[in-house]
Amino acid sequence: MPVKNKKKVAKAPTKKTTAKNVKSVGSKTKKKEGAEKKQPKYPSLLRGMKDILPKDESYWKNMYHTAESLATSYGFGYLETPIVEEASLFIRTLGKGTDVVDKEMYLFEDREGKKVCLRPEMTASIARAYVAHGMHVMPQPIKVWGYGPLFRYDRPQAGRYRQFHQFDCETIGVHDPGADAELIVVAYNFLRDLGLETVVHINSIGTQEDRSRYLVELVAYLRSKRSQLSEESKLRITKNPLRVLDSKEEQDQAIIEAAPQIIDWLSDESRNYFMKVLEYLDELEIPYLLQPRLVRGLDYYTDTVFELYPLDEEVRSQNALGGGGRYNGLIEQIGGQPTPAAGFALGLERVVLELKRLEEKKQVAIQEAIQAGNPPEAPVPTPKIFFAHLGDQASRRALSLIEKLRRDGVVVLHRIGNNSLKNQLEFANKQQVTHTVILGQKELQDGSIIIRDMASGIQEIVDQKKLKRELEKILQRFTMTEIK
Ligand code: AMP
Repeated sequence: MPVKNKKKVAKAPTKKTTAKNVKSVGSKTKKKEGAEKKQPKYPSLLRGMKDILPKDESYWKNMYHTAESLATSYGFGYLETPIVEEASLFIRTLGKGTDVVDKEMYLFEDREGKKVCLRPEMTASIARAYVAHGMHVMPQPIKVWGYGPLFRYDRPQAGRYRQFHQFDCETIGVHDPGADAELIVVAYNFLRDLGLETVVHINSIGTQEDRSRYLVELVAYLRSKRSQLSEESKLRITKNPLRVLDSKEEQDQAIIEAAPQIIDWLSDESRNYFMKVLEYLDELEIPYLLQPRLVRGLDYYTDTVFELYPLDEEVRSQNALGGGGRYNGLIEQIGGQPTPAAGFALGLERVVLELKRLEEKKQVAIQEAIQAGNPPEAPVPTPKIFFAHLGDQASRRALSLIEKLRRDGVVVLHRIGNNSLKNQLEFANKQQVTHTVILGQKELQDGSIIIRDMASGIQEIVDQKKLKRELEKILQRFTMTEIK
């Protein structure tokens, strides 16, 4: 390195400076400056990471509240595990030969030399917590939900990040088709409550024994087609043959299509179990598609496996919104008693992308309807109140009024700073507020206050003491209109 650097050391100019070469030196400097500008002086965002900005706040709040209320209503308790775990927890359970373990773990040594990692998924951590806290002695099943960030050193692209978030539910301690079906219903309802119609892709990969028998057949078949497979799939034949069925490579598709299907290798017990899960889904009217080649990448799955995709044909073939399955061997594998379990995880960045795609589609449809002369009826606006104030004294009084209102459960927006009324009203408009309360010098003196209806521009002067009651009336009026 030092030798290389030496070469780059700029030599002192030997030529005399003339008007001609001043120009050329100048243009070179300009170019250099341009190149330097590309290197930000502050640390940049890491590749594959992203900030969640206030403009997306409503998506993230909505998802959290929906997850919380749904999981609670189905009897799942909140469980939060640490983001940093011992690396071996995931290496042992997800299995070598899986992309997550082989390529995507954020692995490092802590200050004591222990191999740790940022969690790439939640199931193994929750299973560890189940064992660590002796939850097997509590009445079974243990139903828990988790929510938070995960880390995978994936190749970043649309819907694929290195830090992403999941909503996760696990039912530990029962082997019952009803538990699998309930998890699918919770995942399906979460997406439906947010406004996404989905279809469940479902399969059974049987017990470990069913799978071992099937793998003999699958590997023999794949070996016979080896020369026609993509390079990645050739490698997977020995590393993780089931994953060949997940391949998206065009040249693998016909071979995958004709491959033996695991469903034909299930024991009677596994097949009956799977049929019962499907009967539950029929009963619950959950739309599903049997996908004989759905295997999911991780080692710990047994029996039922599923993924949820948007119903919309346009994006169906793209990345799943989430998925899950049964993992009857996992708890024992990490040192617990043999314990059946199942769970799912939904990827929240993908949910936001899909919600935004639908929103855009809706906006296009509205524009088309307007152009065709059929404007849709405007939706009832959600009541939103802004508090504008003019002058130092009014500002102080406004802040104390706002605090009193907040304590009484009436939330109003306001803007701190020395702003003109025009600025504040413009801000209020941008925030799509329905009413603005205005407190100026005059109102301060006579104890009154103005309430302006932003849509009609009509202003009403009321006694400051009656402000809370007036605002409550407004909020109630809007809610009543919505209910109608
Ligand atoms: P998995 O834990 O691999 O079963 O993934 C469950 C869901 O998490 C997927 O269907 C995605 O919605 C989401 N997901 C997985 N990996 C990523 C990633 N790198 N970036 C964003 N979302 C992801």
